Amino acid sequence: MTAPIPRPGILDIKAYQGGRSKLDGVAHVAKLSSNEGALGASPRARAAYQAVAAELHRYPDGGSEALRAALGRRFGLDPARIVCGAGSDELIGLLTHSYAGPGDEVLYPEYGFAMYPIYARVNGATPVKAPETDLTVNVDALLAAVTDKTRIVFFANPANPTGTMIPASEVKRLRDGLRPDILLVIDSAYSEFVTRNDYSPGAELVDAGENTVMCRTFSKIFGMGALRLGWCYAPASIADVLNRVRAPFNVSAAAQAAGVAALEDTAFFDLCLAHNQMWRPWLTERIEALGLEVTPSFANFLLVHFPKGDVPKAEAALAEQAVLVRAVAGYGLPDALRISVGTEEENRRVVAGLTAYKEGAA
Ligand SMILES: *Cc1c(COP(=O)(O)O)cnc(C)c1O
Repeated sequence: MTAPIPRPGILDIKAYQGGRSKLDGVAHVAKLSSNEGALGASPRARAAYQAVAAELHRYPDGGSEALRAALGRRFGLDPARIVCGAGSDELIGLLTHSYAGPGDEVLYPEYGFAMYPIYARVNGATPVKAPETDLTVNVDALLAAVTDKTRIVFFANPANPTGTMIPASEVKRLRDGLRPDILLVIDSAYSEFVTRNDYSPGAELVDAGENTVMCRTFSKIFGMGALRLGWCYAPASIADVLNRVRAPFNVSAAAQAAGVAALEDTAFFDLCLAHNQMWRPWLTERIEALGLEVTPSFANFLLVHFPKGDVPKAEAALAEQAVLVRAVAGYGLPDALRISVGTEEENRRVVAGLTAYKEGAA
């Protein structure tokens, strides 16, 4: 007798581990482990979500038409080439499923987001890592790692968990150096936090050809991770492929309604951006003043480095302040912690926790 056996590669997958959300016996936890947005969702998005309760029996619009129109207006994009998904995770998965399989390679940077290798393995493809330099995507190293079998290159800009970014000119150099049949996926989950003018989320590269996709999410600056809402901007041929393979009602009515309302609430968006612009440098300076190294971040989190073996002590000191952060050993960074920018009060608790850690270590 034998039990059903999953397809080759599935049992090599290490299931994704999200940021911790609970500390035993502590009520007011500062959950700074998943970059969820310090100020939560727009009040208008919450109201739109609640209004959907009256129509729970209705299937959603399978084409997410109003949401795609709102995205097109807000970001100046062609709505016909926007595809919405249950989080950008779903779109990353569908792109991998559609363009890579057994015998193919999916290439990504050394500290790239954990879902890229997971989806590669889900589809029987081989994940391949290219080295980074100073925790930053290295375009030459990615290009050097391309083989005849490479089908997709994924990278996030800014990157998670490092927080670093590469300028638009480097992204273009990457695209220009890749064979035209290789799909380049620019994961711009944190793009709304970047204010530098040498940066681009990547839409112009999508428009320039048939082989580049930009993924975006409502889980970070829009603070709607619970709803699972992401989107991508793609060439017409790739949008067509995604619309064939996705589930017919992959985005809930609540997510669509809240997404439209969130896009319209530009005042709340501006508040979230201004909050991050103020508190990210504040946290960076305070943590550096404690003698800890912080990787310069362009997102809504910091990667903080500790002396070898000290991470458990730092986590314990933060837990004393009821602060939960993200260990990143799984990314090959055993001596670092990723800390989301929180509310003022949460950020002060981070500094208090790290100060206590430093005093304990001294
Ligand atoms: C959070 C995150 C995502 C996933 O976003 P969802 O839309 O919530 O699925 C994708 N890529 C990166 C780099 C992220 O950090």
